[in-house]
Amino acid sequence: MKFEIPAGAGYILQTLAAAGHEGYLVGGCVRDLLRGVEPHDWDICTSALPEETEKCFAGRRILGTGLKHGTVTVLVEGEPYEITTYRREGPYSDRRRPDYVRFVPDLAEDLARRDFTMNAIAMDLDGNLRDPFGGAEDIRAGLIRCVGEPDPRFQEDGLRVMRALRFAAVFGYEIEAHTARAIHENRAMLDRVAAERINAELRKLLAGKDAGNVLRQYPDVFCQFWPQLGPLVTLEQHSPWHCRGGWEHTIHAVEAAPADVALRLAMLLHDIGKPACKSTDEQGVDHFYGHPAVSARLADEMLQALKFDSKTRERVVLLVKRHDVPLPPTGPAIRRWLSRLGPEAFFQLLEVKRADNMGQNLEKVRGRLAELGEIRAQAERILAEKQCLTLKDLAVNGRDVIAAGIEPGPEVGQVLEGLLKRILDGEIQNQRNALLKGINSIKQQLLRQ
Ligand code: ATP
Ligand code: MG
Repeated sequence: MKFEIPAGAGYILQTLAAAGHEGYLVGGCVRDLLRGVEPHDWDICTSALPEETEKCFAGRRILGTGLKHGTVTVLVEGEPYEITTYRREGPYSDRRRPDYVRFVPDLAEDLARRDFTMNAIAMDLDGNLRDPFGGAEDIRAGLIRCVGEPDPRFQEDGLRVMRALRFAAVFGYEIEAHTARAIHENRAMLDRVAAERINAELRKLLAGKDAGNVLRQYPDVFCQFWPQLGPLVTLEQHSPWHCRGGWEHTIHAVEAAPADVALRLAMLLHDIGKPACKSTDEQGVDHFYGHPAVSARLADEMLQALKFDSKTRERVVLLVKRHDVPLPPTGPAIRRWLSRLGPEAFFQLLEVKRADNMGQNLEKVRGRLAELGEIRAQAERILAEKQCLTLKDLAVNGRDVIAAGIEPGPEVGQVLEGLLKRILDGEIQNQRNALLKGINSIKQQLLRQ
């Protein structure tokens, strides 16, 4: 089979061959070509030692950042290509990274150190494969399978647990049974993996098309780095609103949310506080009073532990905290929340509410889903009409308030806030004369206080 290979990669393979070295495309790019997906980078492996590789590309810009591990990065037409000498990894005595890497003459040995069969395929320029572990067949079958015995592979490097789940979620592949069992059994290896590396995999996983199934099949893995999920996984909820337990509801909500990291995280964590807030009334109906605030607190703690950036964390916490606020389809309510959250977070909140409803008893929430559509349309109209939503949009400013006889100081701000509130509530128009009159009435109010 012929594949589209960039000219730069072709040039590198030909240059290596001309100097008497072997060179292959390898890893993610070969896998993606076989999946029929355009690769995002082109890794090359070679029998040449790093010094020899450098010699081959002496006239080019070379980045030597990975030299210790045998990687020479060559820039061709502005594109970086990583060229790595065939290598084997020594033992992982700290269970994080190999004690040393050893260069080896044989491609098969290099392929054997790689994690999954689909990632252990090499390809030459003519499209011929070197595939000693049956990776191409596993790709056809949509299977993720360890190279070699699964247990020691996860024990060497716990990150592979997350990589397997990430590939399953993103590609929609199944994890082969022995590999799956080894993942469950070796999940504690994740304790030795840096939070940042788990984070990077989790982001991709959650945005994957099959994230729901992975959450369904591997709750124990998620509990390994987020033990706070444990009580949610086993939460029962007896309520006319719910036809599912806490975990299955959460999974449905994740699946119903757009493939965006903040939204998926918000759905994963929106009910995390429910177990702590559960009460059961005389009719046997469960209630979870106050759970959004508890969920928000727990979510904040969990996102910090996994080193999420503060922008993502703050947004997720906000959405979790507000996921249950009453939001009637009226102009004042929509304007108030648009003003308070800003348009971006407001529309995300609508997505969160929609996804949450989709995870509930659909018979009961059909009307609410239609209402959310109506709220979105109204909000879009409010923004298109450039209605006043913030202090900056007011047709008067602080100088006008002072000119109307308010002492410079905090009261000026209070008056402007008061005007904005009346506009959002639809009581007055954002017109100069109406606002100047409004200033006087607010002034009277302040004097009475
Ligand atoms: P992506 O599409 O995310 O880049 P990838 O498989 O290319 O996926 P990289 O991190 O770019 O992932 O790694 C390149 C190759 O290196 C992999 O295809 C695999 O052969 C090997 N590899 C990466 N990480 C590991 C690991 N933790 N254990 C074993 N082999 C690994
Ligand atoms: Mg890659």
